[in-house]
Amino acid sequence: MRNRVDRFVRSRVIPREAVLDGGGPAAADALAELRDRAQEEGLWAQPLPVELGGGGLDFRTYAGLAEVEGASDHGPAALGSAPLLDVTMLARHGGTAVREAYLKPLVAGELRTCYAMTEPDVPGTDPFGTATRAEPGPDGSWLVTGRKWFTSGAAGADLVTVMARTGGSAGDREGLSLLLVPTASPGFRIVRELPVLGAGGQYEIELDRVRVPADHLLGEPGDALTIAGERLALGRTLRCLRWLGQAQRAFDLMCERAVTRSGSRGPLAEQQLIQSHVFDALLALRTTRPLVHEAVALIDAGRDARTEVGLAKVAAARMLQQVADSAIQVHGAAGLGPDTPLPALLRTGRAARILDGPDELHITSVARRALRAYGPRARQDPEGAVQRS
Ligand SMILES: Cc1cc2nc3c(=O)[nH]c(=O)nc-3n(C[C@H](O)[C@H](O)[C@H](O)COP(=O)(O)OP(=O)(O)OC[C@H]3O[C@@H](n4cnc5c(N)ncnc54)[C@H](O)[C@@H]3O)c2cc1C
Repeated sequence: MRNRVDRFVRSRVIPREAVLDGGGPAAADALAELRDRAQEEGLWAQPLPVELGGGGLDFRTYAGLAEVEGASDHGPAALGSAPLLDVTMLARHGGTAVREAYLKPLVAGELRTCYAMTEPDVPGTDPFGTATRAEPGPDGSWLVTGRKWFTSGAAGADLVTVMARTGGSAGDREGLSLLLVPTASPGFRIVRELPVLGAGGQYEIELDRVRVPADHLLGEPGDALTIAGERLALGRTLRCLRWLGQAQRAFDLMCERAVTRSGSRGPLAEQQLIQSHVFDALLALRTTRPLVHEAVALIDAGRDARTEVGLAKVAAARMLQQVADSAIQVHGAAGLGPDTPLPALLRTGRAARILDGPDELHITSVARRALRAYGPRARQDPEGAVQRS
């Protein structure tokens, strides 16, 4: 299956990347064609539940596929696994009406979603400051008002999961909830697109007293941080798998260039400084992969994976940035030009160090957790020795 997905991405998705990146009707047609083909070939929605129309792979089995699928940003959408996070969240925390209305169309690729937590005027690293509010409406519904930004894919989305305050005031640890908002609702507006290092796909959105049915609140009022925590652990690990696939792609391009580009001193591959780029990139890839799969195994087993996800996220983001940068260096000017995917891979690697929580956030929380095992309370605790390992 991994080989078949790899072949599909390399032979069908990657050649269409320029059209897919361009957006508009041509991109929609290309994506629809790829999805039909993925369904015909039995590759559709592999990590999603069989009863909803997916392939039913558990996360650990799917992880090997996610790497090769993620080698292109368009792989998950073309192969139907893009809704994994939303389907998992709605299946666990959506009420009956939400599950019945949305799960099957999501898996079939008929509905698109996005996730809106970060706000322009509040640090994204501090969700307690969330200013978006959901007030109870007259008929039990919620009226949501606020502004979010860097909401990936908001322009084409049918549903947006919004983090909003349903109780308490800014700074309180309690009172945050997640609401599933249909984007066709009156009062929902795309304010502007926010290009990231020149690439589109991120949006600022506004909600002005958007009415959300009572049963579109996920879990119970006040559950946002628990649900978001689950979603982020799975989401960060998924991204790491995809970044491994993208870094492998940059590594392949770098090595192919090194052996084929020759000057009067012979092929680049014979230069020791080029070999050093190859060694460092391979080392980064090989040392990051087991960290990511360690996080996958813990999440799959339903165990606490906070340390492992933090380590994997920082390592994978740095690794993608480093490998893409080395591949560009070995290509010379061609690496910065329009004929290779390297500029896009470098951009993804750079953004990776900020999105889903910046490096610093993960570094401090992993380090604090590690240090706790050496603190005074841990010393009295015989389990402390185990935690230290
Ligand atoms: C390409 C892209 C896509 C994104 N997609 C989405 C999306 O779909 N939905 C969504 O809700 N958000 C999305 N985001 C937003 C992203 O999750 C936030 O940018 C991120 O969580 C950081 O929040 P912030 O930008 O408000 O930075 P801030 O919280 O203002 O932090 C700024 C900087 O302060 C430093 N810092 C912060 N905390 C600490 C700390 N504890 N210790 C030391 N230094 C610290 C770091 O250097 C950090 O980069 C996306 C961002 C990008 C770039």
